[in-house]
Amino acid sequence: MPALFIGHGSPMNALADNRFTAAWRRLGAALPRPRAILVVSAHWHVPGTAVTAMARPATLHDVHGFPESLFAFRYPAPGSPELAARVRQCLAPLRVAADHDWGLDHGAWSVLAHLFPAADVPVVQLSMDSRQPAQFHYYTGRRLAVLREEGVLILASGGIVHNLGLLQPVFLDEGFDWARAFEGAVRQRLLDGDHAALVDWPGLGEAARLAVPTPEHYLPLLYLVGAQEKGEKVSFPVEGFVMGSLGMLSIAIGDL
Ligand code: ZN
Repeated sequence: MPALFIGHGSPMNALADNRFTAAWRRLGAALPRPRAILVVSAHWHVPGTAVTAMARPATLHDVHGFPESLFAFRYPAPGSPELAARVRQCLAPLRVAADHDWGLDHGAWSVLAHLFPAADVPVVQLSMDSRQPAQFHYYTGRRLAVLREEGVLILASGGIVHNLGLLQPVFLDEGFDWARAFEGAVRQRLLDGDHAALVDWPGLGEAARLAVPTPEHYLPLLYLVGAQEKGEKVSFPVEGFVMGSLGMLSIAIGDL
């Protein structure tokens, strides 16, 4: 099974029809049908590792100041207690809590709404432990790689460049120089298979500080590259920037 990283951008993408969501729809249609989906979202960055273990995960409206239509949106995919148990088994002896409170956050549903619009593939979310260093997230991804052979789609949802404080509306669909520089450096390391440089992203240059002001939107990338086999193909299904400092790059590993 291929594995994906999606730069999710605004939560409103759940309802939008734009060139990013069109690309996500094409991507979903091109994938082999997964048995289940394991989502690692920027928006579940908390102390501790947990998996959603409920049969019916709720659509979590973890957003503020958006139109009522977004709060009315539901993504009714089933959960998979079976995949949750398998994830805990893969990560043992790491303590992974079986979660019954979280559900699917907007990092998951804004993208899944287009990748799998029928909401008929079971979805489980994995939290990212905010107390852990970057290497931990990379090695957690490595231990989850085996799920790909079992027909599970690993879906990392975040943003390589994500600085909401510097959003510049006049930029529309352009990126700041530093945003393009950082994204370019990440793309090159992905093509080189240089995982160590991706794990140590502050070492990618001055632009890293602006592109990744806080780690949670970048960290899902480490789960993706952790799950990559040596020499496995990397592609970029869609790319672009919104308002200067929001990167929309998507990354696929494996054959599509
Ligand atoms: Zn986000």
